[in-house]
Amino acid sequence: MSESLRTVFERMLPQRPSHDTQYVPEVVVVILAAARTAGASDVHLIPFAAGLRMLWRVDGVLQDVWSFPVELVPRIVARLKVLSELLTYQTEVPQEGRIREPGSAIEMRVSTFPTLFGEKVVVRLLSESQQYQRLEGLGLGPEVAEKLSQLVQATNGTLIVAGPAGSGKTTTLYACLREIVDKTQGQRSLVSLEDPIEAVIPGVSQSQINLAAGFDLPTGLRSLMRQDPEVIMVGEIRDRETAEIVFQAALTGHLVLTTFHAGSAAGVISRLSEMGIEPYLLRSGILAVVCQRLVRKLCVCSRPGSDESDKLGLPVDTFRVAVGCEHCHGTGYMGRIVLSELLSPDQTEIGRAILSRNDTPQLEALAQQAGMVTRWQRATTAINAGLTSPIEIRRVLGLSSL
Ligand SMILES: [Zn+2]
Repeated sequence: MSESLRTVFERMLPQRPSHDTQYVPEVVVVILAAARTAGASDVHLIPFAAGLRMLWRVDGVLQDVWSFPVELVPRIVARLKVLSELLTYQTEVPQEGRIREPGSAIEMRVSTFPTLFGEKVVVRLLSESQQYQRLEGLGLGPEVAEKLSQLVQATNGTLIVAGPAGSGKTTTLYACLREIVDKTQGQRSLVSLEDPIEAVIPGVSQSQINLAAGFDLPTGLRSLMRQDPEVIMVGEIRDRETAEIVFQAALTGHLVLTTFHAGSAAGVISRLSEMGIEPYLLRSGILAVVCQRLVRKLCVCSRPGSDESDKLGLPVDTFRVAVGCEHCHGTGYMGRIVLSELLSPDQTEIGRAILSRNDTPQLEALAQQAGMVTRWQRATTAINAGLTSPIEIRRVLGLSSL
């Protein structure tokens, strides 16, 4: 019988009776510790008519782990709210808080949301391992890592890491910052403005925005510019105002590292253009756009696929499919790999296309002609190498054609 996350969690549950006042505090400790041990990025606690369902996001996919009986629902939720310093009596509006771990500068983010059967709680566990990730160890592909390693030595311009939520963008940015710290040995003035700080980078003066205090990204960035920075990490470009300040900074002798929510490298250019950023700013302000996706890696228990329809329309010769064993908790997958693409506007054709506001497919085609290995090409290579499966690629990259 395969050992699922459920049995792992069950073994860790406290032995004392559930009416004991220490039971729920211990259960909450177990939830957080067990989820972290399983490599989960998020814990979802969802109330329903008969209790509280617990799911963990492991390698980007939600896994059903446990259900707590209905009498424990308010006690577990209240305990998490106490730990994250939220108002326990306030159950009708969403709240956001943080749990600070003793001896660590890193926090867990907790958010509550009122639902039909009570408050739903999601805890985001920030990974400890990403604190130590280096550019060459991210699996971006040697040519992408090498290009980034060159670009972080630039003294002006913007480096954008794009992808959907949970695609490892911040991990890549942190690795870039570490590379800069290493290469310059404290000779460059490095600052960051983040929401929130996810890992401590020695050598970088990190700040976190505080919306309640009116310290938002645009306000913070304007003040930061007066702090004589040379390298600025901006957590994410979410609005036109932030984008404008970023490009001003990039064109006035600053290296800016930032993330952006987009599905492809070419898509970043189009979306910034739609936000109202002038094409000439994009052309001269962007050093490169890296877009990345995380796909789950097949466990050693995978088997060769034989059914043509299991290729799901992908142009691959051979492929493997997930099976499931005790190592992978029955999912068939363990760990993840990165599919990356790097678009750089310094090539004449791409620069010209940006200036003439070409659309995303046109830009992508030009970039590919100029040598960009697209996420789809990386996906096909990964399937042919038996690293991941066609169905996993379709789950992450969607149904669009190659
Ligand atoms: Zn397995």
